[in-house]
Amino acid sequence: LEHFDVEKIRQDFPILTRKVNGKPLVYLDNGATTQKPKQVIDAIVEYYTQLNSNVHRGVHYLSQLATDAFEVTRRKLRPFINAAHEHEIILTKGTTEGINLVASCYGKAYVKAGDEIIISAMEHHSNIVPWQMLCEERGATLRVVPINDAGELDMEAYRAALNDRTKMVAVTYVSNALGTVNPVGEIIRQAHAAGAPVLLDAAQAVQHLPIDVQALDVDFLVFSGHKMYGPTGIGVLYGKEKWLDAMPPYQGGGEMIKDVAFEKTTYNELPFKYEAGTPNIEAGICLAHAVDYLETAGLNRIAQHERELLAYAGGRLLEIPELRIIGTAQEKSSVVSFLLGGIHPYDVGVILDKLGIAVRTGHHCTQPLMERYGIPGTVRASIAMYNTKEDIDALVAGVQKAAEMLA
Ligand code: PMP
Repeated sequence: LEHFDVEKIRQDFPILTRKVNGKPLVYLDNGATTQKPKQVIDAIVEYYTQLNSNVHRGVHYLSQLATDAFEVTRRKLRPFINAAHEHEIILTKGTTEGINLVASCYGKAYVKAGDEIIISAMEHHSNIVPWQMLCEERGATLRVVPINDAGELDMEAYRAALNDRTKMVAVTYVSNALGTVNPVGEIIRQAHAAGAPVLLDAAQAVQHLPIDVQALDVDFLVFSGHKMYGPTGIGVLYGKEKWLDAMPPYQGGGEMIKDVAFEKTTYNELPFKYEAGTPNIEAGICLAHAVDYLETAGLNRIAQHERELLAYAGGRLLEIPELRIIGTAQEKSSVVSFLLGGIHPYDVGVILDKLGIAVRTGHHCTQPLMERYGIPGTVRASIAMYNTKEDIDALVAGVQKAAEMLA
């Protein structure tokens, strides 16, 4: 691997030079959302100054330009995750909408009373609640795979939960609260052996490690643009063609139809069947620039850089007496969650904020997971490609200061 030039990367992110509370910004809340490089910011301005028009309908020049630019994003996303077909890439609002779409459409077609859906104990609320709602509607059962104290899935329990009533396995690739990287290849193989498809929540994976949906043989994969250096309000649902063809549409409206009559409407082909209404055109177009950015930086190099930082952060934080790391899985990516003695995470977060250090505190939309550990929440530092050892040093100094002040 060549040298990863983090200082050069940082120059692409204008916000990283600003101050917060009179201190240089140390941004370690990347799990919530990442900052944007100027390539993405410039593309947003370019869109509104040169292209703004509705897509997929106008004959006029600007509409053609906007449509072409929007479709460039789909064209770039296909090889980015190695999908077999461009029309397997559905543009959504984000991860949440992608999961709701699959729960709703797959659920209507395939889930009935007595069936079972498997999730895990470390899911984000957005990969719990849509399945709960589906189970309630259909009379199906939600089964939850437990984790060990390190925050790793209990694969024995997973195998035992799979059976011929299992209609879907929906798990996160990387835990947003613990950083655990799940053994998704094995999870998918086992599910398929039991005849069940798998949805992977890749919201915390796609910006940190290379993903190949065909090698994984995953059925559905969802992620958000805003967590991968792209705009807010756009996300991706990858689905295997066979499922996307077989499922009914999600929302009805413009764009998703072929012909409408009061007697009968026929639906559009993929991917438009699942893209009712005017999409977030600006974000859709500009997501391509985030994909370019990630590919230029190189996901293998990013992963290596972030792995080094994570190991450094873990080691340095543990120098602080009474600090406890929540989530000590063998395979981790980019997240370090911790508690300082009996101090409430929020109090630590407030002191860090005064020092210009942005972290997240609380339950991280994983209340059942916090319940599993018997804690109200954690302080979470989450790493992106532009973070440095100096950022980690600032964090450690800040936590030390918080420990002194709150002791
Ligand atoms: N799943 C995981 C693992 C996440 O971290 C998040 C965002 N915190 C989501 C789903 C939801 O993503 P969004 O809010 O962008 O829809």
